[in-house]
Amino acid sequence: MKLPDVDYIRPKTLKEALDLLSAHGDDAKLIAGGQSLMPMLAFRLLAPKILIDLAGLSELRGIEITESGVRLGARTTWHDIERHPSLKSAHPLLAAAIGHVAHYQIRNRGTAGGSLAHCDPVAEFPTLVVTCGAEVVVAGQDGERVIPAADFVLGPMTTALAADEIIVQIRFPAWPQARRWGFEEFARRRGDFAMAAAAVFYDLDGDQRALDPHVGIIGDADGARRLTDVEDLLAGQRITRSLLTEARALAERSTTPSEDIHAPAPYRRALIGTMVERALAASAGISLSKAV
Ligand code: FAD
Repeated sequence: MKLPDVDYIRPKTLKEALDLLSAHGDDAKLIAGGQSLMPMLAFRLLAPKILIDLAGLSELRGIEITESGVRLGARTTWHDIERHPSLKSAHPLLAAAIGHVAHYQIRNRGTAGGSLAHCDPVAEFPTLVVTCGAEVVVAGQDGERVIPAADFVLGPMTTALAADEIIVQIRFPAWPQARRWGFEEFARRRGDFAMAAAAVFYDLDGDQRALDPHVGIIGDADGARRLTDVEDLLAGQRITRSLLTEARALAERSTTPSEDIHAPAPYRRALIGTMVERALAASAGISLSKAV
């Protein structure tokens, strides 16, 4: 379908973009890479009168790695993340998960801020932001506010972002080098949206027991979320083969997957359990293949 008639403006500064957004109210929509917005316009799910393009705001693009963590400008693309020379060591979980987002052309234009604002329940980035306890910096007419991920992501396609605000940065806490982690995803084809995925990480104490485990999933009807039951199960434990089996069963019991044309809910539930088990196995270097 062709796009509806819409005006287009490309501000040069964040202040100009914020002023335009507040002047046009509900008639305006921000556009970053257009990789989610353009299909929404084409399907007439949205019909703004004016598009405010963030492409001129170079200050919103870039990756900063410091002792306090990784900061992604909202306009940072998936390719920027993929190509960054030290992100793989500074935040291996982020780099691995973003490797599953979409296909080449989409990765070239799609942005971190756009993905988070859109908040698709099966997108990788919102789940990562929630799992890692990142912070979202948003700018509005009254200045900036910093929102913890758990308060920002409110559900599928729903965030705490006000209509006159712009995401400017996403801040991931520092990643200790010895941290254990795993990311596993199941999609029909590489680059398709996930049917299920799991991101896990924890540190180890001197006795090789898991400290402060984080387990996040994709595939639940409620969108990006952590599995606190599974985190409680793992906390203070050595990650063994039998604990993986328990974690998998608990993950299945703790999720309410959506049902759609791609898969019934029980299948998705089993898939989520499998992803949690595989991600944990990867984190602990445990092989899941059966001996023949
Ligand atoms: P846009 O489409 O430009 O905007 C999306 C929304 O965010 C709009 O509502 C816009 O107003 C708002 N917005 C944008 N930037 C900001 C900002 N800085 N502040 C506030 N609001 C903002 N994603 C995945 O995660 N995994 C996949 O496997 C995947 N597969 C895809 C396959 C296809 C065929 C397509 C078309 C897309 C796929 N995507 C996937 C989506 C893709 O990752 C997009 O890049 C992502 O959704 C963000 O899009 P964008 O940056 O282009 O934002």
